Amino acid sequence: MALVVQKFGGTSVADAAKIKAAAAKAVARHDAGDRVVVVVSAMGHQTDLLVDLAGQITAQPSAREMDMLLSTGEQVSVALFAMAIHALGREAVSLTGSQIGIRTDSRHGKARIKSISTTKVAKILEGGAIVIAAGFQGTDQHGNITTLGRGGSDTTAVALAAVLGADRCEIYTDVEGIYTTDPRILPAARRLSSIAYEEMLELASLGAGVMHARSIEFAKKFGVPVMVRSSFKDGPSTMILPADRAKPRPASGIALARDEARITLEDVPDEPGTSHAVFSALAAAGITVDMIVQNAGQGGQTDISFTVASDDFQEAAAVSRRVAAELGAGGISCDDDVAKVSAVGVGMAREEGVAGRMFQAVAAAGINVRMITTSEIKISALVDRADANAAVAAVHAAFGLETPSPAEVAEGSLEEGPKPSPLEVVRRLKGMEDLAIEDCVLDSSQALVTIVGLPDTPGAAAEIFAAAAAAGLFVDMIVQSHPRNGRAEISFTVPAGDAERAAEAARTAAAAHGATVADVPHVAKLSITGVGIRSHAGVADRLFKPLTDAGINIDLVNTSETRLNVIVAAKHGKKSLRVLRKAFGLPAAKSS
Ligand code: ADP
Ligand code: ASP
Ligand code: MG
Repeated sequence: MALVVQKFGGTSVADAAKIKAAAAKAVARHDAGDRVVVVVSAMGHQTDLLVDLAGQITAQPSAREMDMLLSTGEQVSVALFAMAIHALGREAVSLTGSQIGIRTDSRHGKARIKSISTTKVAKILEGGAIVIAAGFQGTDQHGNITTLGRGGSDTTAVALAAVLGADRCEIYTDVEGIYTTDPRILPAARRLSSIAYEEMLELASLGAGVMHARSIEFAKKFGVPVMVRSSFKDGPSTMILPADRAKPRPASGIALARDEARITLEDVPDEPGTSHAVFSALAAAGITVDMIVQNAGQGGQTDISFTVASDDFQEAAAVSRRVAAELGAGGISCDDDVAKVSAVGVGMAREEGVAGRMFQAVAAAGINVRMITTSEIKISALVDRADANAAVAAVHAAFGLETPSPAEVAEGSLEEGPKPSPLEVVRRLKGMEDLAIEDCVLDSSQALVTIVGLPDTPGAAAEIFAAAAAAGLFVDMIVQSHPRNGRAEISFTVPAGDAERAAEAARTAAAAHGATVADVPHVAKLSITGVGIRSHAGVADRLFKPLTDAGINIDLVNTSETRLNVIVAAKHGKKSLRVLRKAFGLPAAKSS
């Protein structure tokens, strides 16, 4: 007898007929002998309607009352869902988040789950009834109703599956699974039979709206297999699994974050402490920063650029203006009409020339790339919002995503197999959704190539990385700065043994554009791994502060959901490792 959690999204319970059809699915599973917990979203666009209604009363509704209001959407649908099951002659009990015992912190509108009681749910299941749980909501320690953030019912479902030890969490929605990109943007998008946790986490956090990113944090941390399938059509689905079972490829999917804004602090002092001043102020304002790029710096000054979601733009700009003044910087410049296109794939880290392929495709479509950042499993490019859809199409085609790769796993074979194990770090967490840091390691064998004075035209980055690929170089971290006075900078790391060859290839490619290559120093890369690194505001800043205090300058930084990488001078490698392990509460490394 298996235990399954089935989650039905808003479109799947949009009217009475759809609720009855969804209830029939739960009943069929129950009748087949499984124990069933159903998690339901609010009907159709009910949450949007409630947000709109509040807006008609006041421009600034209290966050507590907003949660009180929004939680009613799910309370309606669980009651109706339970009635639909009763009408089919089976037992069902609906429960709100508070009745289940979903305890969260007090951040209204974006609360994080601390713990979930299983007592009540287990008792109802034992009695042979189906449990219908309200998604998206919980209560804080004072009994106030909280909500988890838009799309949060996915997170309720996977978190419940985690604490109940469910065999599987099934997400029923209006598409047949996870596609290579949003099928509404690109009709050529194709359903994947499987995708790795890390890839889904990254895609969701980079803009793919199909899953709430935090639900995949739970899945990865607690080892929950997740299946995504259509509510309306029986047939194939997508399994979200550990990377070794999901058969990843260089790019598994493309995500688009359409509403991004870019802010640059110009001419700030190029010394330890500057980044910390900027990002601690943003973290204190609760703003999550995304792409972070710092120029190589000339004459003791540098530019720091980053992106935020458009919703946070006004506040982030105000904070940046204040910090710029405090630092004696030149001022700030911004763009509120940019979008971020990202290619994601666990297989990327093992293949040469991936970045070149992506930039070549974007350049061939005549699209200018404003900023670039990468991590081991993703490449993000900032483009003008008007170019966003064309950039998605170009990158999708460049990675051949419209056709299945030979490595893709046969349908059906994924649904069986052992349950993934929870991560070791889970045992040390106080709250279920706390930031989970697993390790921090040092790689002292890299060299840093910096090209300055590149023209701000489509294709410049593509040519640099085409030259690197032609030279057989394995490029690791890449950043391209926001251009100043029509000139941009690109930095990337290569294995230290390839430094000379990389410098040579870069010099030739740069010279064709009137750009130059700076010294190629030996550098050290520190990697902090875990889950929730980008979704918790202020993690990057936890890295800037101890390095600043130790007087260590940061050359490059990049982030993903599961990694935070930083490049420092080779001579600071061991010291950086010591201070970072301490700052993140890890025991001292044996070799240092
Ligand atoms: P639900 O209400 O069931 O939670 P959502 O609207 O939150 O459904 O998510 C489903 C939608 O996500 C799809 O209709 C699709 O347009 C969008 N989407 C974005 N990226 C992807 C992707 N990579 N694969 C599938 N769907 C995607
Ligand atoms: N009803 C909530 C929303 O629309 C939560 C969810 O559907 O996941 O955001
Ligand atoms: Mg959703």
